[in-house]
Order: sequence, then C-alpha cells, then structure tokens
Amino acid sequence: MKKLYKGIHEFQESYFKKEKDFFKRLSKDQTPETLFITCSDSRVDPNLVTQSRPGDIFIVRNVGNIVPPYDAMKGDNSVAAALEFAVLGLNVRDIIICGHSMCGALQALYKDEKELENMPHLNDWLQLAVPVRKMVERYNTNITSKSRQRITEEKNVLYQLHNVQTYPCVNQAVKDGKLHLHGWYYDIGTGDVYTYKPSSDSFERIV
Ligand SMILES: [Zn+2]
Repeated sequence: MKKLYKGIHEFQESYFKKEKDFFKRLSKDQTPETLFITCSDSRVDPNLVTQSRPGDIFIVRNVGNIVPPYDAMKGDNSVAAALEFAVLGLNVRDIIICGHSMCGALQALYKDEKELENMPHLNDWLQLAVPVRKMVERYNTNITSKSRQRITEEKNVLYQLHNVQTYPCVNQAVKDGKLHLHGWYYDIGTGDVYTYKPSSDSFERIV
C-alpha cells in the first residue's frame, strides 16, 4: 500500500497542480466518445496504451473482457448496465473490445475445473467463454499451446463482439450508423495493438 499512498501524494503535488484547470472542467461533466471493454489484468492499461486522458474513455473491465449475451444473466449483469449507460446515456460513438496476450482467464478455460473449485464465482463467470474454447478446439487440432492461447484470445474478442450486438440498444445504434464496434488485441510484450479487419478476417497491427 505504501507505494500507492506515495503515488497519491505525487499525483496531487505534480500532475494535478499542473492540470488544475483541466480537472476543474472535468469535474462538471463527462463526455467520453468511446466505451472500452477490456480485461481486469493488471498489465493492461487502456489509458496508457491509447495515451488518453481522464474523461476520454468510459471503461469496463472484467475477468477475460467478457460481454455476457443479453439473455444470459438477468439482474446482476454489470456489463449490461454499463452498456446501456454508455450507449443511451453518454451516446458513445465507438465500442472497443480489447483482449490481450497471456490472458489468465482464457488460459483457465483449458484447466481442469477442479482447479477452480475454491473459486465458484470465477468458474461460473468463465462458463460464458466456454463456447470460445469449443470453437477453438473444433477448428484447431494439432497446434501448440502457445498458438492455441493466441487463437483463443483473438476468437474471444470476436465472440464478445458478437455478444455485444445481442443488446437491443447496441444493435439499434449500429443500424442507425451512430455506433461502431471494434475488436482489438493488445500484445503486452511488444506494445503492439491489433484491430480486427473483417475484410481479411484477421487482426492487423495498428500503425
Ligand atoms: Zn486477461
């Protein structure tokens, strides 16, 4: 915790003091243009990677950057709540679903369920991504575990892009041309970010 307290002090004494006017403006309202859905992984930092500032992106983070299908969870779906607010309340123009390399959540899909016995909530949550594992296993036999991991991470982004369109508010805004959907993949070790291109059905590096 010491490191974090020190960080707060540094933030207030240097960054905040220099940007006082910016924060004063920011305190009145938020008008982000993008909803960014990514993993809770501590190594993934949407603001750092996109060099964006507070107020620029509305962020949803969860284990495995998962978007439960509209009908999958009634009531306790925090992703649905955030989606509705971002699309209907904030009128974001873009939704980015960003996966990443060495995602522990997706690695866990291939582990024995017994290993998650003492983490029942995590186990339940990951069931939402099991169709991704099944898809990967069906179409990719005889591959190394490393390439299986990468394929799973990319396919998971596409699967969640599909799921996000099961929400009527998203579907309608996309149809109206007011909202655009993007699938991204962030490679932690190289800093590269890839975007899914439907024309080539592959992730291409953003340059
Ligand atoms: Zn992850």
